[in-house]
Amino acid sequence: MEIRIEKAANLKEKPDETKLGFGKYFTDHMFVMDWYRDKGWTDARIVPYGPISMEPSGVVLHYAQETFEGLKAYRTDEGKIQLFRPDMNAKRMQRSNERLCMPTVPVEDFVQAVEELVKVEQDWVPHEKDTSLYIRPFMFSTEASLGVHMADSYCFIIILSPVGAYYPTGLDPVKILVEDELVRAVKGGTGFTKCGGNYAGSILGQIKAEEKGYTQVLWLDGEERKYVEEVGTMNIMFKIDGEIYTAAIDNGTVLAGVTRDSMLTILRDWGYTIHEGRLSVDDLMKAGHDGTLEEVFGTGTAAVVSPVGELRYKDDVVQIGDGKTGELTQKLYDTLTGIQWGRIEDKYGWTYTLD
Ligand SMILES: *Cc1c(COP(=O)(O)O)cnc(C)c1O
Repeated sequence: MEIRIEKAANLKEKPDETKLGFGKYFTDHMFVMDWYRDKGWTDARIVPYGPISMEPSGVVLHYAQETFEGLKAYRTDEGKIQLFRPDMNAKRMQRSNERLCMPTVPVEDFVQAVEELVKVEQDWVPHEKDTSLYIRPFMFSTEASLGVHMADSYCFIIILSPVGAYYPTGLDPVKILVEDELVRAVKGGTGFTKCGGNYAGSILGQIKAEEKGYTQVLWLDGEERKYVEEVGTMNIMFKIDGEIYTAAIDNGTVLAGVTRDSMLTILRDWGYTIHEGRLSVDDLMKAGHDGTLEEVFGTGTAAVVSPVGELRYKDDVVQIGDGKTGELTQKLYDTLTGIQWGRIEDKYGWTYTLD
């Protein structure tokens, strides 16, 4: 793929690396590529970051035909920049787009676009410990029309945002509320895709949880509201009596996290028995009360691992490991972040170094 580069005339001042937060600052350039039914993908370009214009009748504003991805670029101690399994994000975006009847970007073009944009913006990859450059590819329909149909034009954009250490003072367990009324995904729906609409529908549950003093929502299955599926933007794993339980991804209601897949690979390597399947919230709470629920943690690109210190389901509350981060949770965090930031050897071939 040929990518045209148009450099910004003025570069922004870089933000303080100790106060980056998440998704607040954007770099000087973005990648843009258009799709037309008669031409396919065209005009791949890296241009100054800035507003995009659209007709008020642009279909995405009405029917939410939009998908996105999230990955990171990491700076190693030697100053090299590396990506983590970018092909997994490329393939997942293809699956999302197929479900939403949107065009797909070939895996090698997706990875090339990410790579070239990050190279142009390499000075934006922060140096402070545990900081990174968050990469947000997204696609939406641009056709100006009010018909509900596959559009005849789409736009694919990648923007970059330097993000801070998720845990500036070490892993910090969160409190999670099991949502027993609202659901996130149903079989046959779009739960396995990263499409904007899924997240719009989840905000109400998030607000309900926050009002009760919880940070995240644990969603149950959409049919029986009986089996645990995942958390806001994370998959979730449970260590019960020495074995690992997590929802399966094959019924299409749970997002196939890259972090999830990486964690399961590492856990198998360490000899853990993994149960990918149904775990009922009743069994989970029971394990919480009889002492066999040893650790609970969310997995996702933003936080890598998020330890859970408390679970609430209706009026039932369980504390996990005295509210402290579990030993395995910490070890998984250290191992995966070690690979991502190049501090420990990557025997899996997951890292992708930019030259
Ligand atoms: C993005 C996301 C995840 C985590 O995926 P990663 O590839 O590990 O970042 C999990 N669940 C949902 C709903 C998500 O949107």
